[in-house]
Amino acid sequence: MKILRLILGDQLNPNHSWFKNIDDEIFYVLMEVKQETNYVLHHAQKILAIFAAMRDFKNTLTKHNHQAIYLKINEKSNQQSFKANLKALFSQYNIQKFEYQEPDEYRLDQDLIEFCSEISIPSECFSSEHFFTHRLEVKEIFTDKKQWLMESFYRYMRKKHHILMSEDGKPVGSKWNFDHENRKAWKGMPEVLEDHRLTHDHAKLWDEITEAEIKSFGNHNASKFRWPLNRNEALKHLDFFIKNILIYFGDYQDAMHKEETRMFHSLISFSLNTKMLSPKEVVSAVEKSYLSDKLPISTAEGFIRQIIGWREYIRGYYWAHMPGLSDENYFDHQLPLPNWFWNGKTKMNCLKYTIKQSLDEAYAHHIQRLMVVGNFSLLAGINPKSLHEWYLGIYIDAFEWVEMPNTLCMSQFADGGRLASKPYVSTANYINKMSNYCEECYYSKNERVGDKACPFNSLYWNFFITNSKQLSKNPRLAIVNKQIRDMDPALIKDIKLQAKKLIKNIEDV
Ligand SMILES: Cc1cc2nc3c(=O)[nH]c(=O)nc-3n(C[C@H](O)[C@H](O)[C@H](O)COP(=O)(O)OP(=O)(O)OC[C@H]3O[C@@H](n4cnc5c(N)ncnc54)[C@H](O)[C@@H]3O)c2cc1C
Ligand code: SF4
Repeated sequence: MKILRLILGDQLNPNHSWFKNIDDEIFYVLMEVKQETNYVLHHAQKILAIFAAMRDFKNTLTKHNHQAIYLKINEKSNQQSFKANLKALFSQYNIQKFEYQEPDEYRLDQDLIEFCSEISIPSECFSSEHFFTHRLEVKEIFTDKKQWLMESFYRYMRKKHHILMSEDGKPVGSKWNFDHENRKAWKGMPEVLEDHRLTHDHAKLWDEITEAEIKSFGNHNASKFRWPLNRNEALKHLDFFIKNILIYFGDYQDAMHKEETRMFHSLISFSLNTKMLSPKEVVSAVEKSYLSDKLPISTAEGFIRQIIGWREYIRGYYWAHMPGLSDENYFDHQLPLPNWFWNGKTKMNCLKYTIKQSLDEAYAHHIQRLMVVGNFSLLAGINPKSLHEWYLGIYIDAFEWVEMPNTLCMSQFADGGRLASKPYVSTANYINKMSNYCEECYYSKNERVGDKACPFNSLYWNFFITNSKQLSKNPRLAIVNKQIRDMDPALIKDIKLQAKKLIKNIEDV
């Protein structure tokens, strides 16, 4: 029976059981289609990275004697949509069965289910064999719960998969969580190692993308391209991180710096989300390093929590709340995204540096995404859906299943607090503590009102004053709510006026 197997651009796992046997009757297909490049405006590096990695994957399949079909973006026969291309291939190759791996994105999942119901040949959907959990596992754990506590899910995962557990069923080190409560700012030491990632020259591929008139933004950096594009490169990168950098991850996880963009983060999200790396091997490599006494338990636990805790939990949260998650807007925020989100031209140093870095590298680390861009957007009242589309486009690792719950729920509290127990917002105080952005900023970090006052300061208080109906009963906000109750009414008036002025002139802040 002739079978056509579709491989999506984020399904680049050469260890999938599909590839165990070589079979002349099985055809694999990968395609570069405008359907996928154009549904939001993407960063140039994201398009380049996915196309280059797909091409590399096709070459690996061919090298291992699998039959692989590849449709390049400019190929004449390419009809630029999965459905149209698949139908053409069915007749060209006399295909008798269609197979695919479960997509991680709701939109594509629905498209393929619909497609399979329309075609006359049988079809089958396979697991992508990537995640620890199945799509609805998180939902099953939290059915009927108002608050979806990540920590309880994380403990469940540790027990279920015997990760960092001792023989007697207790967590190793006798604690579940070694979260570094006093995360440090970075003052120049320890040294941030040079970027050791390989560089690739993808200038020719960039020309093809340009010829195809695919719209994008950000710096393409095609001739010095730095993202790992296959499993071997991804494994080398992971190994280097675990041996040389991970030890500093926990202490400096929240630190931000004008000159250092990577700090001590792993930069593995692109390799993980495209499935070149499996989360299971990342976790075992870190656990192995702990067991061989190379890493302290606090470091190993903190990093493993990101993978089996946050990453799996976020995915489960997505599947539990789709469709409909994209329309959540608890505070009814409607402010359009300011234009400077697309060029970084703002007087606020923290946003200027974070956005410019994101435009240059298609990367910003978690705290920059959460406590700079997300923080400002929530305080200013930017429409969460527009913000979600910006995040989905700009970051190299942005795929809807992971980006959407992080943006809408963790960062914008758009689900009303099911995922995050309180909004992640701050004044300039936190940003100044964790970074050197406030030095030489046009604005003054210590002032709340006046032309030079840091916008975060008035917007922060204004946010709690304006949204008191939704937030005044939140027990985790007791202190801030009391501070507002005790505040001089004249100051409240000034703060509200200052915030109103800032929001009105948001294009010029
Ligand atoms: C507003 C916002 C948007 C985000 N969008 C994305 C996105 O589109 N894609 C994405 O992969 N992550 C996203 N994240 C989560 C996190 O910021 C990135 O996973 C991380 O910055 C990737 O860089 P890294 O590989 O250097 O991660 P590290 O800081 O080294 O962390 C290691 C790994 O842990 C996992 N991880 C840690 N936190 C999370 C989390 N909250 N959700 C899921 N995985 C996590 C990732 O796989 C990451 O690679 C977002 C966070 C926020 C606040
Ligand atoms: S002063 Fe305010 S705007 Fe400037 S960098 Fe600090 S937090 Fe950002």
